[in-house]
Amino acid sequence: MSLIVKKFGGSSVANAERVFNVANIIIDDYKKGNDVIVVVSAQGDTTDDLIEKAKEINPDGPSKREMDMLLASGEQISIALLAMAIEKLGCPVISLLGWQAGFNTDSHHGIARIRNINTERLKLEVSKHKIIIVAGFQGLNKYDDLTTLGRGGSDTSAVAIAAAMKADCCQIYTDVDGVYTADPRKVTNTQKLDQITYDEMLELATLGAQVLNNRSVEMAKKYNVELEVLSSLERKPGTIVKEIVKMEKTLIRGVAKDTNVTRISVIGLNDTPGVAFKLFNKLAQFKINVDIILQSVGRDGTKDITFTVPLDQGKDAITAIESIADILEYKEVVTDNSCAKVSIVGAGMESHPGVASKMFEALFDAGINIQMISTSEIKVSVLIDGKYADKAVQAVHEKFIQ
Ligand code: ADP
Ligand code: ASP
Ligand code: MG
Repeated sequence: MSLIVKKFGGSSVANAERVFNVANIIIDDYKKGNDVIVVVSAQGDTTDDLIEKAKEINPDGPSKREMDMLLASGEQISIALLAMAIEKLGCPVISLLGWQAGFNTDSHHGIARIRNINTERLKLEVSKHKIIIVAGFQGLNKYDDLTTLGRGGSDTSAVAIAAAMKADCCQIYTDVDGVYTADPRKVTNTQKLDQITYDEMLELATLGAQVLNNRSVEMAKKYNVELEVLSSLERKPGTIVKEIVKMEKTLIRGVAKDTNVTRISVIGLNDTPGVAFKLFNKLAQFKINVDIILQSVGRDGTKDITFTVPLDQGKDAITAIESIADILEYKEVVTDNSCAKVSIVGAGMESHPGVASKMFEALFDAGINIQMISTSEIKVSVLIDGKYADKAVQAVHEKFIQ
């Protein structure tokens, strides 16, 4: 007998038929004598629809607290419906909201971090041999206010429960049957991976492969929770995410794309010590996530610094820069909201020179100009014009994966 944590994404519970399909998957494992804790997301596009509703009321963006109050309701619907389906099929079940399942988070509304899970209630319900259905993506802060964990956060809820309850396995069910070398819905000739390391998966997730939320992978690595990503529509093995995997012949494990990028150039800065410090220190104070940074070589006493930030932080970044305009004495700030970051990821590239140049060759052959480049041991990212993003991903994928 094992303790199994299963997570089902929005498309897996999008309508009544899908809810019963999921209920049957759960019951199959329960009837084999296992304890089953299930984390579920809001149905279909519910979260997007709720965001639209909020925009109708306040197009400038409502407070983050009230946004969380609204968005957390999506998961409340899906846990109740799934529990009702399991009841109807004759098994003991209970649905729990995030706070009832013991999720304590910090107070960063919209992107809260889990502080701890008080597992008392979960353990009580397990001891009663009930199937437990937990609302993903949500928790409670120390002021007893609802919080949400950021888009795609139900994955993190599932991994957190698996870690806290010392589950035997953690299965993430979705609408594809595993992790592929690129998004199988957008790129042709992608290959399914049998296994991938935490580090590679973390990079892919952070660089735009939304199949797993990056925080969930970070947590899985930290607590050594082995994950399986698999389909809720077809019963077959998926992709295992773990610490060490067997070496593959391929140099790279995947290609990812992120269009949630703004490029900001601060032009005509003084070419003196401390300028980069003052600029990035101010951005850090504004909690801006700076990604790729490029500084030009000084000429005639001035230099330019270009960097990227997530699209939704672009405005705040400009405000931050303008707040120290008199200190920085730059000539102008130029922003571009239509770029994309295309990345390749793979532990194999550490020991193989020439991987980056092969990627650049693919882009050259496709006639795509590179604006910025950034590398680490296991990834190479390039910033390009967003309108060529899909073409770039396809070209790079074809170059590396036969
Ligand atoms: P869920 O609602 O189940 O959480 P998501 O939409 O968040 O599902 O994630 C699944 C989607 O991730 C797939 O439908 C697929 O289009 C996309 N995806 C992007 N990159 C990859 C990849 N490398 N492998 C598999 N799926 C990917
Ligand atoms: N429902 C939330 C979202 O759409 C959480 C999730 O799906 O994981 O982002
Ligand atoms: Mg998801």
